Amino acid sequence: MKILVAVKRVVDYNVKVRAKADGSGVETTNVKMSMNPFDEIAVEEAIRLQEAGTAKEIVAISLGIAACQDTIRTALAMGADRGILVETEVELQPLAVAKLLQAVVDQEKPDLVILGKQAIDDDANQTGQMLAALLGWPQGTFASKVEVGAGTVNVTREVDGGLETVALKLPAVVTTDLRLNEPRFVKLPNIMKAKKKPLAVFKPADLGVDVAPRLITLKVQEPPKRQAGIKVDSVATLVDKLHNEAHAI
Ligand code: AMP
Repeated sequence: MKILVAVKRVVDYNVKVRAKADGSGVETTNVKMSMNPFDEIAVEEAIRLQEAGTAKEIVAISLGIAACQDTIRTALAMGADRGILVETEVELQPLAVAKLLQAVVDQEKPDLVILGKQAIDDDANQTGQMLAALLGWPQGTFASKVEVGAGTVNVTREVDGGLETVALKLPAVVTTDLRLNEPRFVKLPNIMKAKKKPLAVFKPADLGVDVAPRLITLKVQEPPKRQAGIKVDSVATLVDKLHNEAHAI
């Protein structure tokens, strides 16, 4: 079985995100960038399937600027076999990403595509679903358990009311939730080995995909600063304030 894993380069989850001074977007200059945490979980799951003898090859793919190569190298250091970068300076929106992934799927013919449930920068939670729709493949989103059988994959999903298990026919699209696994740390020797693994670079035009944005960002603003709280000396004062000042009760 061949697995394609999508890995997005995003602002590191430990960094406090700031809007650019002109409000045109999020500041990324001199900001630590990392692999989207849900995509680390996707890579880990693919590696576990390979270690279990279920998967033969893992291909990691990232789409964006040249620096996305670093994200692919991280996936290769974790254990993916080879990488694909679809390089563009255009800001990619989920539909463009899904179309590019569809074109790569047509070439690579994987049995399973694993993505994160969402990217922590745009929080769109759209790409996996759009890709499944474009391919006409079944999808198992928000996966907390993935069990591959003969030509099938059972995906346990985290839904509002609890857990739901769906049986999908392969090929299929799976998106990962937080509880699926705990990604491994990358070991130094593996970082060195990853430098030698193959990494192919394409442009969107090579894949025949128009990546022009369909949405325009008008303005990016930071949320208003929260006022400092106060301490009250009795429950009676608290109730009084909630009633007469906050009008909350
Ligand atoms: P989103 O729909 O933007 O929240 O992203 C969901 C998932 O799609 C991410 O967790 C990634 O697995 C994948 N994805 C989205 N954009 C990219 C990208 N530019 N490069 C690689 N993977 C991406």
